[in-house]
Amino acid sequence: MTTVFIISAPSGSGKSTLVTAIKQLVDNLEFSVSYTTRQPRGSEEPGRDYYYTSRDVFERMIARGDFLEWADVFGNYYGTAKKFLDDAEGRGFDLLLDIDVQGATQLQEKLPNAVSIFILPPSRAELEKRLRRRSSAEKMTDEAVIRRRLETATREIEKYTEYGYILVNDQLSDSIDALRAIILAERLRAAGRAADGNEDKNTLLLAESRRLENVKDGLGPILDSFRRVSVEE
Ligand code: ADP
Ligand code: 5GP
Repeated sequence: MTTVFIISAPSGSGKSTLVTAIKQLVDNLEFSVSYTTRQPRGSEEPGRDYYYTSRDVFERMIARGDFLEWADVFGNYYGTAKKFLDDAEGRGFDLLLDIDVQGATQLQEKLPNAVSIFILPPSRAELEKRLRRRSSAEKMTDEAVIRRRLETATREIEKYTEYGYILVNDQLSDSIDALRAIILAERLRAAGRAADGNEDKNTLLLAESRRLENVKDGLGPILDSFRRVSVEE
């Protein structure tokens, strides 16, 4: 049985960094490459990071029912093709999707057994720093884009309660360990296996510590850092 892992995060939280790391660490996991109408960014490559298409082609794919889910994000279309799930099922792999909160809501209705993970930055100030660092590294600093991403983040983070697991991406290596543990713990569960030895037990404990119900009481300061600024603006 294929398990679908949905990862969402406000842009700049470190989701791509985490997904790139997890690719090296977990086997039998397929990564869905989304279709988008936005332009390639930085060192992105067609077919590896996204399939880049025109709005016309994307709209034809919507009409044909090619997408498992799709959404308009920052004025561009983004969508997950059904064929990725079919391929993963055919190969007996799990599937990891990096999609926004609108897409995650659509998918959770279609695939109620999907495992959903929300990545939060440690604070609004740190998210702004990461967005600026990335855009200056890519030589594409545009104040309007950064502002819009921060405003969208303020809306998106309020949706954290719709996810099964929450990762606060502070120390990258801790977040990588926790993400790996969530995937392995869910595999154990799907296989109906109990923990076998200390390594499994530690994996289960680490995953458990990132479940929404075990994290949510500690999220106040992060949520406040976003809410405070949106009231001041
Ligand atoms: P996203 O995919 O969520 O939009 P990226 O993975 O592109 O975000 O990360 C945004 C920026 O933050 C990048 O410059 C990345 O190197 C940096 N970054 C990612 N995770 C961390 C972390 N835990 N600590 C500090 N910087 C990070
Ligand atoms: P970026 O342009 O920074 O790569 O992505 C912008 C947003 O679009 C991110 O939140 C990312 O998760 C989301 N996204 C990427 N692919 C898809 C997709 O196939 N479907 C949906 N709904 N969102 C996507």
